[in-house]
Order: sequence, then C-alpha cells, then structure tokens
Amino acid sequence: MEQDEKLAQRIKRDNFMNFIELIRCPVCMEIMKNPTNVKLCLHRFCGDCIEKYIRVKKECPTCRVAIGSRRFLRTDKKMGEIIAKLIPDIEKFQEFEHSETDRNIKEMDLKKKSNDMMIEAQI
Ligand SMILES: [Zn+2]
Ligand SMILES: [Zn+2]
Repeated sequence: MEQDEKLAQRIKRDNFMNFIELIRCPVCMEIMKNPTNVKLCLHRFCGDCIEKYIRVKKECPTCRVAIGSRRFLRTDKKMGEIIAKLIPDIEKFQEFEHSETDRNIKEMDLKKKSNDMMIEAQI
C-alpha cells in the first residue's frame, strides 16, 4: 500500500514537473509571466521576453519564423489563468525551484567527488 502511495505521489510530481516544462519560457527559463503566443507558430513566451526579443531579432526564438511586428503576438489570457491557478505564488515557486537546483548541483558535486576518490583509490 505504502509503495502504491509513493508511486502515485511520484506520478503526480512527474506530471506537475512536465507541466512546468510546458509553461517555462524558452527565453528566460522561468515560469511564463503574461504568457504571449506568436500567432504564426503558436509558440509561447513571457510577454516581456518576446517583445524584447523581436525588437532585436524579428523572429520566433524557438522556430525562427519571421515576426514582422507586435501585431503577430497575442496575449494568452487562458494560459495565464491556468498558470495562476496551478502556481498561485510564482515567486515562492521560483525560490523553491532555485534552491532545488542548488541542492542538485551540490549533490552532483558530491557524487563526482566520491567518484574521483574511488578512481584515485583504485590507482
Ligand atoms: Zn520569459
Ligand atoms: Zn515559433
């Protein structure tokens, strides 16, 4: 039983993390703020990120379709609502995510160090 619960929890977590990847902005790598679609290819970014990006390069950062002007962008209100419902406190979530990343890097470092030590020991 306990195993099942753990598995269910993991699936929930995995689904959630998959969803997070969907709502991550490919430009700033954070959860999208004011999600905005490119009408031509339907790729999605933060409103600010895509507007700044097309000022410099007039193309979609993901698929490079030409974006002539802001008229090809459309705010995705529905997606904004979904994100707000799932992650009511984006700042807190990002704090948590950054601390998780730090922890993972530290763990990777530790693993690498112990691997190195094992290799040295074998010599
Ligand atoms: Zn962004
Ligand atoms: Zn695109």
